[in-house]
Amino acid sequence: MAKVFHKTEQHHQLKLVVEIIGTLNLRFKNLNLYYEAGWTDSFCHRRCLHEHPTLIEAAECGMPHGAGWYVLAVENGTPRQLLDSEEDVVNKFRFGQMER
Ligand SMILES: [Zn+2]
Repeated sequence: MAKVFHKTEQHHQLKLVVEIIGTLNLRFKNLNLYYEAGWTDSFCHRRCLHEHPTLIEAAECGMPHGAGWYVLAVENGTPRQLLDSEEDVVNKFRFGQMER
């Protein structure tokens, strides 16, 4: 009997964890952050207008547009500059490509 109780308790805990993760995902979605590639085309600033979930995906999108590409973050529909930590990821990608 005790074992059965323990299993039920575990199941209950698992359910709690799933609920917490679900809430976190929801919060993350509410932040509404995605990345776009940007580049300069004949002195016009262009944006790829995709909603890239990761910096690397946006960087891969921007790379074919020439050396002047960059990545911008869009938070709640408002573009903002990358944070230093985000810029580091993009730079690592950029220089990683150049080494090839
Ligand atoms: Zn794109």
